[in-house]
Amino acid sequence: MIRLVCASANPDKVAEIAALLDGAVVLLPRPAHVADVVEDAPTLEGNATLKAVAICAATGLPAVADDTGLFVDALDGRPGVHTARFAGPTASYAQNRVALLAALDSVVDRTAQFRTVAVVVWPDGRELAVVGECRGRIAEMELGERGFGYDSVFIPNDGDGRTFSQMSLDDKQAISHRGKAFAALLAALVGEP
Ligand code: IMP
Repeated sequence: MIRLVCASANPDKVAEIAALLDGAVVLLPRPAHVADVVEDAPTLEGNATLKAVAICAATGLPAVADDTGLFVDALDGRPGVHTARFAGPTASYAQNRVALLAALDSVVDRTAQFRTVAVVVWPDGRELAVVGECRGRIAEMELGERGFGYDSVFIPNDGDGRTFSQMSLDDKQAISHRGKAFAALLAALVGEP
């Protein structure tokens, strides 16, 4: 079975990635001694590649990283690559959600999309990048208890009107940006050593 070191240290994302790769990939934890990677690339793919390259170099093993952004049409695509920091450099998930709802106060067109880029880097320099997208809209208020990040304010088009936070993890992963990206990654990994 393929062994990949997970470049993410975010436990919410690691839990989702582990569930998506379960049975097909042995996901090794990111070593604690490796310093945080500065995510200063202008694109999701750039940031995911920075993380995967750094962890691959530090461990000598193939590494997988993902980077996700929320692109809101009425905000000209913001927060985009700055999704983790929408309310400021040290903003919590809750502060980011409050800032997003405030930015869309009285806005009728609330369409948006989540986009995830997943990247695998091998020690011999090979790289693989895939994308998963999920279109939807930003709710008027927070709804639901599950998930993380912006889950309680995002209503996917392919669902039944519930936010991601109102769904089970399986239901979210079946239609989510990350679910689609890692399904594409698994398909592309077939045949890789
Ligand atoms: P990251 O750069 O991939 O860690 O993602 C940036 C930010 O996007 C995170 O801090 C979360 O706030 C948000 N995010 C990422 N994935 C999801 C998701 O699946 N649901 C809701 N929010 C997410």
